Amino acid sequence: MRIDILTIMPGMFDGPFRHGMLWKAQVRGLVEIRIVDIRDFTDDRHRTTDDYPFGGGPGMVMKPEPIARAVAHCRDEAGEGRPRVLLTSPQGRRFDQAYAFELAKEAHLIFICGRYEGVDERVRLTLVDDEISIGDYVLTGGELPAMVVVDAVVRLLPGVLGAERGPYEDSFASGLLEGPQYTRPRVWNGLAVPDVLLSGNHAEIARWRRQMALRRTWERRPDLLEKAPLTEEDRRFLASLEEEARRPSGGDGML
Ligand code: SAM
Repeated sequence: MRIDILTIMPGMFDGPFRHGMLWKAQVRGLVEIRIVDIRDFTDDRHRTTDDYPFGGGPGMVMKPEPIARAVAHCRDEAGEGRPRVLLTSPQGRRFDQAYAFELAKEAHLIFICGRYEGVDERVRLTLVDDEISIGDYVLTGGELPAMVVVDAVVRLLPGVLGAERGPYEDSFASGLLEGPQYTRPRVWNGLAVPDVLLSGNHAEIARWRRQMALRRTWERRPDLLEKAPLTEEDRRFLASLEEEARRPSGGDGML
């Protein structure tokens, strides 16, 4: 996959993409991430990327021409294939794990990072495939949203997490939250690791993990259970949780 990130603050990306799995994925050639300075596509001495809003009002608006040139440059460089152009915006489609899986299928993503009051509307109308939001709050720029989305997407690319650990057991991938995890020591702060995890019985461990995932989702995000693919056994287990909660002493087993 190739990812181009168009920004007027390229220095912000110096850290996040140079560590951990994202860095390894680049070194191993699984993804190519390029930070493109929109100012390189301006045509004035001051490298201007913003201007006053028509009609007045506070703040500045990002000019369309440098962004359009930067997008065209990334398209031309990539050659064949149609990139998906994403405009970061608090008004966009809310990013989630399903959206991350969808973007991970693309060969080429181009992110436009807004600043100030945002980007001239004609960019959205003529250049953009998706407007993407990372949540219902307003940040100062699209750089952090682009980092968040790129991190979530790149870890889904084949080979990034390694063959032994796919992304499919993570929270949301299966429609559920993941259950609790333990490592050494066996007893810490008076709390022992559940016996089943030390049993070596893989079928029992898988069953316990499934039940813990169901329990945690039921307790914290019951809305997810409405869409999650559930087996008959899952439904019986959830019914037992409901039953337990109805008992006078029940419902205090928050994970
Ligand atoms: N005036 C805009 C509005 O009310 O919708 C907000 C502009 S915001 C201060 C500047 C830029 O930050 C946006 O153009 C966008 O690129 C980015 N941004 C801010 N919050 C975001 C969010 N929740 N998700 C994605 N991008 C965001």
